[in-house]
Amino acid sequence: MAPRDPVADLRRIAFLLERANEATYRVRAFRSAAATVATTPHEELTARAAAGTLAKLAGIGEVTARCVTESLAGEEPVYLRRLLSTEGTDLPGAAATLRSALRGDCHVHSDWSDGGSPIEEMALAAAEIGHEYFVLTDHSPRLTVAKGLTADRLRRQLDHVAALNEQLPAGFRILTGIEVDILEDGSLDQEDELLARLDVVVGSVHSRLRDDAARMTRRMVTAIANPHLDVLGHMTGRKIAAQGAGDAAHRTARTRPPSTFDLEKVLAACVAHDKAVEINSRPDRLDPPKRMLTVAVEAGCRFSIDTDAHAPGQLDWLGNGCERAALCGVPADRLINSWPAERLLEWTASH
Ligand SMILES: [Zn+2]
Ligand SMILES: [Zn+2]
Repeated sequence: MAPRDPVADLRRIAFLLERANEATYRVRAFRSAAATVATTPHEELTARAAAGTLAKLAGIGEVTARCVTESLAGEEPVYLRRLLSTEGTDLPGAAATLRSALRGDCHVHSDWSDGGSPIEEMALAAAEIGHEYFVLTDHSPRLTVAKGLTADRLRRQLDHVAALNEQLPAGFRILTGIEVDILEDGSLDQEDELLARLDVVVGSVHSRLRDDAARMTRRMVTAIANPHLDVLGHMTGRKIAAQGAGDAAHRTARTRPPSTFDLEKVLAACVAHDKAVEINSRPDRLDPPKRMLTVAVEAGCRFSIDTDAHAPGQLDWLGNGCERAALCGVPADRLINSWPAERLLEWTASH
């Protein structure tokens, strides 16, 4: 049998594990093995596979060594075959139509903040699943637990992204952005000059989520009125028990109710200032809840179906958001990420 590409097989396994919401540390074994294999000469790999010494290479363990050996022998790795056999079913009709309308993702993290993978790996995975772009939205300074980027680090990231964009596959580009914290007074947690330079700004509430409704409403409406903000991220901040995210007790411990605010006022502000409401596809968020999403459709809001991906495989979570959007009657022409990048940038510059 002709040998397979072990790097591609290891990366595919990592992607499928991430998509199944496995913890990043579990997936790391496959990504670091892929990196090692990619930089090891083919002759050395085959010699080591024959001698059973692959696991002596840094970054390769027993499980990943077996995958590489199988790939080199031209067999689909057993580990990969098992994952492929449990892959999800296709999206139902209306959701599939919305999914095929999407050209990109406006909420993506890298290892510059709390993501698990370098920007380049996220970009290559996005290009592979057919995206034309994603917006890189790492966290802002106040979110220290998530390694939020200071103004200086964000400036460095912008230079890095500009260089990366020169090397990426044709037809794909990284748009610059931020997931900026909406502070208690409704201001945004980054320098104005930088926010103005970014292609797309997602604003999210990450602190004092239990504040009373009046205070939270004022905070959100102030942020929505800020010309820099383009997309209101995971509007309720709720956390729900997601499948695949550790054991049941762990999942329950990490849940959080939605915050309370005057929904109609917040949505009216989004419509008045022409800002988009995010439909967050993370299995542990699925935010906004469906009843609120239905109200937002009736209010006339625009939407962005985003993954909030922290690992490459999570970029494929858009289907979750599409299913909910279809159930709530979101029309495709109200999705800002169904637009080509140029139109998206015209829109963000327009308000
Ligand atoms: Zn967030
Ligand atoms: Zn995020």
